[in-house]
Formats: sequence, C-alpha cells, structure tokens
Amino acid sequence: MNIDLYGMIKAFMQVLFPIGCIGCSKVLLEQEQHLCLNCQIELPLANFHHQVSNPLAKTFWGRVSIEQAFAFLIYKKAGLTKSIIQAIKYKGNKQLAIDLGKSYGNQIKEELKQLGVNGIIAVPLHPKRAKKRGFNQSELIVQGIAAVTQIQNISSCVKRKVHTSTQTAKSRIERWENVLDIYEIDMPLLEISQHHHFLLVDDVITTGATIESLAKTLQQHTNCKISIAALAFAP
Ligand SMILES: [Zn+2]
Repeated sequence: MNIDLYGMIKAFMQVLFPIGCIGCSKVLLEQEQHLCLNCQIELPLANFHHQVSNPLAKTFWGRVSIEQAFAFLIYKKAGLTKSIIQAIKYKGNKQLAIDLGKSYGNQIKEELKQLGVNGIIAVPLHPKRAKKRGFNQSELIVQGIAAVTQIQNISSCVKRKVHTSTQTAKSRIERWENVLDIYEIDMPLLEISQHHHFLLVDDVITTGATIESLAKTLQQHTNCKISIAALAFAP
C-alpha cells in the first residue's frame, strides 16, 4: 500500500476512533504511541543498575547469586506503572509489552553486552493462566528486548511444572516449599550450556520468589551466570 495513503487512512481512523493515552486517557497525537508526551516524561524510571545500592539486587541477597538486576519502572499501588501493567495483563495490549521491551532493551543494551548476556528467558506462566490469558506478558517483553539487543530469546528452554490436584491438600508449609521447585529445564543440557549468562525477565517483581526459583533451577543444571530484568519492581 502507498505509504501516504496508509498515513491518511491512519489519520482518518484516529479521528473516527481516537486512541487514548494509557496513563491519562488524553487523545494521542499522531507521533505518540501508547502514552502521551506528558506521561512519558512522568514515567517513574527505576535506573537501579546505575546505583551502588541497587534495591532490586538487594531483594535477592542471601537467596540466589545475581550478577546484575535491572528494572524499568517502579510500581506503586496507584499510578502510571499500574495502568501500564493492567493494560498489558487485563486489557491484552500485547504491542505495549513488546514496545516497552524494545524501549528498555535499548536503554540497557550496552550493559547487557558488557555483562556478556547471551540468552534471554521469560519467567514461564502457569499453564492454566497462560491458557486463560492467551499469552505470557513476560515473553512479549523478552521479544522486545531480544529484537533490539540481538540477544537470543531462549524462553522455551524452561517450563513450569504442572502439579496434580493433590497439591491443594498439602499444608501451607509444603506448598511454600513447592514454590522453590516449580520450574524444569526443557532443552538438552548440551544446548542450554552454550549460553553462559542468562537474563531472566519478569513483568513485575515483588518478593522475587518466582525469579529465585527459576534462577536456582538453572544454576542447578548449568554453570551459567544470571542477571534479571523486570518491567516493574514493586518494593
Ligand atoms: Zn498521558
């Protein structure tokens, strides 16, 4: 299709069906995507990897060995980050997740290169939830990061174990212990061992329990180093 014609149709569609900013609902200008310029400026950027005392890295102290911890945004009970996460998870705005992944990937590209990261893995969703939602938001973020950094997306190398229904009968302590053993490697070890430094990606990190579990599973079976990245950190 002729580009000018496409542009005209796009402009026409915007008049008929104006797209609102995810943050403030204001109608977006043609050059704006997902967020208006004001909201883009207001984004609560974490920039932890530039800090000596990295709050996200601290979450994992004494639990699992992490090389570097990256977070794009800070998550609060109300605010822009929450609107973004809701738009992705509950309104199914997949493109937003990919685009934010690209945007953050561009920001941390050099650091990832210096660290020698050569494989990116999305935290797998529980199969039931993946089926219900139809997509794994962390995998979309990984797609964005991989596209701009040229680092291989190897998310399929791990999967979440499917527990049987007897799980519900277990005590709270037993269930908690099970959180530590919920992932398994789903790739020949020889193949996965070609990667020396993994970047584990989650949408929101709160307690870090799932990332810890995934990191431990990978460290049990390989000699890889591990760094982590979250779209948002909820301290
Ligand atoms: Zn806005």
